[in-house]
Amino acid sequence: MRKKLIAANWKMYKTPSEALSFVEAFLPLVAGHTRDEIVLFPSITSLATVISRVRGTNVAAGAQTMHWANEGAYTGHTSPVMLTTLGATHVLIGHSENRQYDNETDERINLKVKAAISHGLTPLLCIGEQLDERESGKTEDVLASQLAGALAGFPKEHADKLVVAYEPVWAIGTGLTATPEIAEETHVIVRNHMAQHLGDTANEIRILYGGSVKPENSRSLLEQPNIDGALVGGASLKADSFAAIVKY
Ligand code: PEP
Repeated sequence: MRKKLIAANWKMYKTPSEALSFVEAFLPLVAGHTRDEIVLFPSITSLATVISRVRGTNVAAGAQTMHWANEGAYTGHTSPVMLTTLGATHVLIGHSENRQYDNETDERINLKVKAAISHGLTPLLCIGEQLDERESGKTEDVLASQLAGALAGFPKEHADKLVVAYEPVWAIGTGLTATPEIAEETHVIVRNHMAQHLGDTANEIRILYGGSVKPENSRSLLEQPNIDGALVGGASLKADSFAAIVKY
């Protein structure tokens, strides 16, 4: 059984005090909820605040990206050691916004995924096709190529630690959501390709769906057999809305 993971990607929103207010409101709403794993991804300036407030609860916290090196002359970056020292347990890697705006290549993503695993951080590897790629029938090729790039040399013995987030780029922040059928069908494709890289353990890997998930559509998506959770952007910014998704 794959325990579902519901994650909040706050992107570049919320100051530390706003993040703390969210957590104060959110924790009582999900108290005792153990059916699903819950993870918050605040911006780096709020991460310490969020981690210290969720410590000992059923909610975990992680970073929205990181560098792969332990330390070095990389101005503006955060290392895996810095994150684990803070108490972070998860890290988003290869979000489409980073691929689009921050020169996040498959090669860098590959280094980051492997660094996360070697530091005991759970990587949420984000993949997804653009609208023109879906419309021209290239979805499977795009996803296969992103997976091959990200997973080159990935240590198979740690495959169960990997989480993949399938986020069709055309559905992120647009209000457009893949239908549950399209999402399920694509998750099966993703799982089959992961099996080519990682063998039978692919059945243990959680594949989250992301792209305009909200309280109104979370249940129909999360009921699908190969949708093992959700990565939520806009609808995770308010405590009651994110709690409703968690309790779909
Ligand atoms: C995301 O940022 O990963 C995301 C899925 O955003 P939204 O839910 O707003 O589409």
